Amino acid sequence: MSSQPSSSSAAQQPPRIVVLGSLNMDIVLRVPQAPSAGETLLGRSIAHIPGGKGANQAVSCAREGGRVSMIGCVGNDAHGLALRTALTQDGIDTAALRTDGAEPTGTALILVEDSGQNRIVMIPGANAKVEIDEAALRQQLQGAAFLVAQFETPMHQVARALTVAHDAGCKVLLNPSPVQPIAEPLWPRIDTLVVNEIEAQALCGQAADSPQEAALAGQALRAKGVRRVVVTLGARGAVAVDANGARHHSAPKVQAIDTTAAGDTFLGALAVALGEGQSFDDAVRLGIRAAALCIQRPGAQPSIPQRSAVLQSPMPPDWTAL
Ligand code: ADP
Repeated sequence: MSSQPSSSSAAQQPPRIVVLGSLNMDIVLRVPQAPSAGETLLGRSIAHIPGGKGANQAVSCAREGGRVSMIGCVGNDAHGLALRTALTQDGIDTAALRTDGAEPTGTALILVEDSGQNRIVMIPGANAKVEIDEAALRQQLQGAAFLVAQFETPMHQVARALTVAHDAGCKVLLNPSPVQPIAEPLWPRIDTLVVNEIEAQALCGQAADSPQEAALAGQALRAKGVRRVVVTLGARGAVAVDANGARHHSAPKVQAIDTTAAGDTFLGALAVALGEGQSFDDAVRLGIRAAALCIQRPGAQPSIPQRSAVLQSPMPPDWTAL
């Protein structure tokens, strides 16, 4: 028997993921319930926690074992420095993270109710100043499994990045959140689209509240040119839609403490698993297990689990074909 490393072990190098997106300092106020108009409410606590969809997804990819670089922009302030440091501590390459001299670091004010429900006000700040350096991006994408993007950075810059990725032969994993219309030529540039039920409905005009509806919405989104779609359904798990049809993967029953970053955690686990060559359904199940751990802990980045913890968590029940 040969002791040479096999080509399959060479292929098991951790996938490289390039994340384009937002970084925010989350100012988290824990409250019994959200105040009504005109009401002054006594809150329980305040905390400053690194967040922002882009950074959360980058951290999730890194904690799942991906080799991650982040493209984004922070302000020249204490929050910006803290966010940069947080990424570095997760081993994320921040060479393409710019510091803008004029705008403050993005901020999200998050009210978390005792029920675990959250309400968020976002100030984009420096996230609005993200600019794509096409030549540098082309180089970064060489050998990368995915370009991951969301819509918390300017749409025209995301569009440019999607085009560069497409031309460079790098797959795009898009989470169009907060949702905005997607220009027609961009649809075929998306390999994998991850949407929640609200985003799915906004993009295809069909309700996606039940797994059956999500399957139909996913097919409608595929008809626009995307290869595969995941519709996440909160406590009901997610629906995976590809050329083979639609499958509903249910989520484990857990106590939700704080759902912040659930979708971002899901996406990171999905991206790395797909980058490792796992099947679409296995990748979705891993995402569901990771997100279930995330919602049992408060905050954005501190609640994102490591791969080792995800693998120790219970397997969700089998999927159901729709
Ligand atoms: P978003 O946070 O982007 O709106 P969802 O609410 O659909 O997305 O959550 C993303 C994923 O997180 C879901 O697909 C599911 O796997 C997991 N999740 C969210 N809420 C719960 C919950 N209450 N119980 C178990 N899993 C959950």
